[in-house]
Amino acid sequence: MMTEPLLFEISRPGRVGVSTPGCDVPKTELPMGLLRDALPLPEVAEIDLIRHYTRLSQLNYGVDVGFYPLGSCSMKYNPKINEDAAGLPGFTRTHPYQPWYQVQGNLRLMFLLQEMLKSIGGFDAVSLQPAAGAHGELAGVLIMRAYHRSRGDEQRVKVLIPDSAHGTNPATTSMSGFEMVEIKSDDRGNVDLDDLRAHCDDTVVGLMLTNPNTLGLFDEHLADVVTLVHGCGGLMYGDGANLNAIMGIAKPAELGFDVMHFNLHKTFATPHGGGGPGSGPVGVTAELAPFLPGPIAVIEQEDAWCACDETDCEHEPGDEGFEPCPPEFYFRLAWPDQSIGRLKAFYGNYGVMVKAYTYIRMLGAAGLREVSENAVLNANYLQARLKDVYPIPHADRVCMHEFVAQGKIAGAPDILAMDIAKRLMDLGHAHPPTVYFPLPRIVPEALMIEPTETESKETLDQFVADLIQIAEEARTDPDLLHQAPHHTPVGRLDEVQAARSPVLCYKG
Ligand SMILES: *Cc1c(COP(=O)(O)O)cnc(C)c1O
Repeated sequence: MMTEPLLFEISRPGRVGVSTPGCDVPKTELPMGLLRDALPLPEVAEIDLIRHYTRLSQLNYGVDVGFYPLGSCSMKYNPKINEDAAGLPGFTRTHPYQPWYQVQGNLRLMFLLQEMLKSIGGFDAVSLQPAAGAHGELAGVLIMRAYHRSRGDEQRVKVLIPDSAHGTNPATTSMSGFEMVEIKSDDRGNVDLDDLRAHCDDTVVGLMLTNPNTLGLFDEHLADVVTLVHGCGGLMYGDGANLNAIMGIAKPAELGFDVMHFNLHKTFATPHGGGGPGSGPVGVTAELAPFLPGPIAVIEQEDAWCACDETDCEHEPGDEGFEPCPPEFYFRLAWPDQSIGRLKAFYGNYGVMVKAYTYIRMLGAAGLREVSENAVLNANYLQARLKDVYPIPHADRVCMHEFVAQGKIAGAPDILAMDIAKRLMDLGHAHPPTVYFPLPRIVPEALMIEPTETESKETLDQFVADLIQIAEEARTDPDLLHQAPHHTPVGRLDEVQAARSPVLCYKG
């Protein structure tokens, strides 16, 4: 980590970073109005420019640099073979307007990925359209809406959401035109069954449930929750962001979920964050399959269709009517009968699909199960080692792939979760855990820790040692924490200002 303040303003009047060859054609005036009169750009030499950007790139922190325990995000290592596969020319050099018979390999990958997700989730059908988890939620709630309307069940307007849910769940509900009703958690971190029962009636669209939930806990009464929701005609929506805890062990559809989104960029690798491309396919049971967003990839058999015999075809490629003879089977795009429509240009975020496909094929079914087992083991190891240092509200329970500790230290009453997170940055954990989620009324001063399966025992032990050191510092030298971070390129920022009024232009 750099400790020197960054010299940011390196512009000097008259300095240039390029030299163009002499002009060998006659000069003419540019048409009026094409150029701006003034454009304040930095003036720097080439070497200064190179150093500027190289220095900035070295300030980047990511999972390829160090531990990234950001709870709820599954910031796992992205094996480099995923990137190699996504960069293959057969994928990168296809155009979305190419006809289906020229892109059989691309469609085949989509079809196989749909099949693998069906099998992992226990679902009957999958659409790869949505571009992220939140987008998958929108797809899922619109599917639930279409399903109820198709049955004339128009009075259903309430979506039930536990108080521990991610903020995207209520946002999705209001974007879908529904009303959200919050359901309390009980004292073991499960859905409060009495509160749920009190809200189950014939106005319920469904329950959006994250399981394991954002406290890292598998709901102990899931079967009762499902019975109550289905009993009043509602549907079970699964927020699949926490699938990393249960892959190959439990299939969400078998647990009672009717529709769920997958976060390919969390569970199946792909670097994410900062708004980078994601992918949030939705899986559904047979009853909901007709409503999926399209198009989806389907397989067809030769004997089902053959428009023309290759040897005896009156059409040329490119002609209207030309449909080459397929091999034994071939892949096409199709629209479910009562589809909610298109959610994304073309076919979704294709590159992320390639990475997820590669990841799943590399690991296989047994490997995916091992991923979840190790993710859960790592989280429990951290929870066990930290529970005497930091309060952990549900430490009496076995956690799943993550857990929520509290940034409260005995003997240091004015230390907050934020101070601990900032001090972690000084100790080399430049991306601290998620803070203040779940919401303070569920867990005050939340520090949500998700190590993922990719970390070694040494990395976890170092993290524990650093958190123990911070607890000690909190008691002996609290100002060290209040003013942290000390060793980062910039000190403590006003994060609200930084998000609300970012300065994105050179010279304002
Ligand atoms: C990440 C996450 C989401 C949203 O997914 P995005 O891919 O970020 O849109 C929803 N719910 C939970 C629990 C999450 O962790």
